[in-house]
Amino acid sequence: MPGADKLPPLREVIAAYGLAPKKSLGQNFLFDLNLTAKIARAAGAQESGTFYEVGPGPGGLTRALLGEGAGKVIAVERDARCLPALEEIAAAYPGRLEVVSADALELDEAAILPQGVRIAANLPYNVGTALLIKWLTVQAWPPIWASLTLMFQKEVAQRITARPGSEHYGRLSVLAQWRCTAKILFDVNRGAFVPPPSVTSSIVRLEPRQAPLAPCALTDLEKVTAAAFGQRRKMLRQSLKPLGGEALLAKAGIDPTARPEDLTIEQFAALARALA
Ligand code: SAM
Repeated sequence: MPGADKLPPLREVIAAYGLAPKKSLGQNFLFDLNLTAKIARAAGAQESGTFYEVGPGPGGLTRALLGEGAGKVIAVERDARCLPALEEIAAAYPGRLEVVSADALELDEAAILPQGVRIAANLPYNVGTALLIKWLTVQAWPPIWASLTLMFQKEVAQRITARPGSEHYGRLSVLAQWRCTAKILFDVNRGAFVPPPSVTSSIVRLEPRQAPLAPCALTDLEKVTAAAFGQRRKMLRQSLKPLGGEALLAKAGIDPTARPEDLTIEQFAALARALA
């Protein structure tokens, strides 16, 4: 049953530790125990294992992960004000919660996370995309993490999961789906957060492919998608001119009058190989 951990209600935790939400840290907290349990189950907490949570804040999702069955949670929080509340959770779940006081963007995660770790987070909006890119652009693939179950603004979730031809299809869609399968699991109404953000959110689940969808170097893929989507209304023969224009497109077997949203991820990989 959600909330069966005998810890005080999250609203009391916020009041007791003076955790007034800070906008600069992207602090929009979740208090609804049914919702945090739903996210924890979407992340696979009931299957035990080790989880990595970025931004536990007062610990709503942390408590849900532990309560649903996560064997261990490693949680990294930048706001030191939250540490006493998190210590209280660690005491309620002996040996199962490790709190790291750090900026997740700076952290060398490979040094502290075990192989097969699952990442689950209600991400701070101001760093969510940067963190996702950090996880998607690691050198070694498949990565150490087995899945990502993440909250994003709905518009970012649509960009991550967009298919060719969609208005949301862009650099993030190509990068994410080249290396992972990605889908939106469910939306979360803005009213579920304290304070409510200005937009709807969505939970996205990504699982790494054993090998990327088509062979090419990550750096070359990033170069072609940056050039192509940097001028997304232009034909590729125009936007890719600095990288070789029509000759590059001919080498990759792609129509020079196509626009970037028409290309599949395999075709972007072909362009990246042609560039190499
Ligand atoms: N997990 C909590 C929940 O669901 O209620 C809080 C989520 S809140 C959207 C984002 C959390 O990330 C905040 O606690 C914030 O302090 C933390 N945070 C922001 N930037 C961070 C960073 N760079 N590294 C680690 N934590 C960060």
